[in-house]
Amino acid sequence: MPTLTFLGATGTVTGSKYLVEAGGERLMVDCGLFQGDKELRLRNWNPLPVPASGIQWLLLTHAHLDHVGYIPRLIKDGFRGQILASSSTVDLAKIVLPDSGHLQEEDAEYANFKKYSKHAPALPLYTYEEAVKSLEYLRPINAAQPIEISSHFTMRTFFAGHILGARMIELTVRENDKVKKILFSGDLGRFPQLIIPEPAVPEDGFDYMLLESTYGDRLHPKEDIGQRLVGIVQHAARQGGTVVIPAFAVGRTQELLFLLRELIEANELASLPIHVDSPMAIDVTQLYEAHREDHSPVIDALEKGGVNPFSPPNLHFDKSVDESKQLNNAHYPMVIISASGMATGGRVIHHLERCLPDHRNTILFVGFQAAGTRGQAIQSGVKSVKMHGRNVSVRARVETIEGLSAHADYGEILAWLARFAKPPGKTFLVHGEPKASEALCQCIVQQLRWNATVPTYLQKVTL
Ligand SMILES: [Zn+2]
Repeated sequence: MPTLTFLGATGTVTGSKYLVEAGGERLMVDCGLFQGDKELRLRNWNPLPVPASGIQWLLLTHAHLDHVGYIPRLIKDGFRGQILASSSTVDLAKIVLPDSGHLQEEDAEYANFKKYSKHAPALPLYTYEEAVKSLEYLRPINAAQPIEISSHFTMRTFFAGHILGARMIELTVRENDKVKKILFSGDLGRFPQLIIPEPAVPEDGFDYMLLESTYGDRLHPKEDIGQRLVGIVQHAARQGGTVVIPAFAVGRTQELLFLLRELIEANELASLPIHVDSPMAIDVTQLYEAHREDHSPVIDALEKGGVNPFSPPNLHFDKSVDESKQLNNAHYPMVIISASGMATGGRVIHHLERCLPDHRNTILFVGFQAAGTRGQAIQSGVKSVKMHGRNVSVRARVETIEGLSAHADYGEILAWLARFAKPPGKTFLVHGEPKASEALCQCIVQQLRWNATVPTYLQKVTL
């Protein structure tokens, strides 16, 4: 009998990993890191219930670390199969996995320095070298049409509207005369989308659906993002201040560049220097430009007219450390977009340290700030925040634009589900905090009358 085991993303938005077994073959969908509090992170060190060497294929929905960040460890533990993903996801993984290896090494070094690890010495989950080596297992595929993986598995993909390369995966599982069809939503974006195609509505019926529920109990505010951005940038510019935007390198930075260009071209915002100060964000922006198969109709039309959609006037990419440092000496209104998105590390820390104490500046948050992060502290209105071992006072304006989320809220998810011609036999709510998954499950059962449930960590179901 074919089975499905939930190896992650149950009761949490991290660690996405699902194991499908049929006819003695094993396939995994997504291979994410557990992130967040210690109890979750320790799960990264637990052995999987099956040996990594016994898994033949890995399919990826998209290249966020909570979906791909465990790959180098899986390979270190013996996986020798193929990793299949869209061509954009493969290219993004080539950027984010080595970076993750580097961070794992840094964390281990820091733990040794502080002597807080239970391992002595603390070890990285994997190294930069191991992450680089793992990339050779990646195979770019175009699975808009069904691809037969083996006699037991066939896959097909649909746009998920989440980030560059993100796809939902339809997996057909065969064993003897049993045929089961599963839809893995991966992370589901909002619609309409600015720069990538919006989430598709697969037409066929499914026996099972694994549906994300990050915003299962929340709605995004209805606001005009462009007008908010104009107001915030203009205010800082009038004061002679700088707008510092901590932004994720993948997706958010490119959406901001697109919006700023649109607003400046439409004369709604006066042109001012815009700096992208993050080597990763710069590399990722080039991938967004290059992967035309992942462009929204709006982006397509702009390119056909000879316009680079991600290049507002007066744009500067600050790749080197020297270029980044020169921004410290610039005293005129400007926008600095820099990583990390939750101000937990990266170059944005230097800009915050310099800009936070001056009331003329604005710090603009455009993404979810997780509990316990520096970003969340600043957003919540603290008077000072610790950086590089000293207290930095917060006198700058602090603003948040929530509408740029890469995840659909529950209203959008329900609207998307309502477009399905036929309900799946059973829907599993995954990738959410317990309250969010439970809330969305209730909505689906009560409003759509679908059969839905919230699975638990390591639960195995017979298909
Ligand atoms: Zn994601």
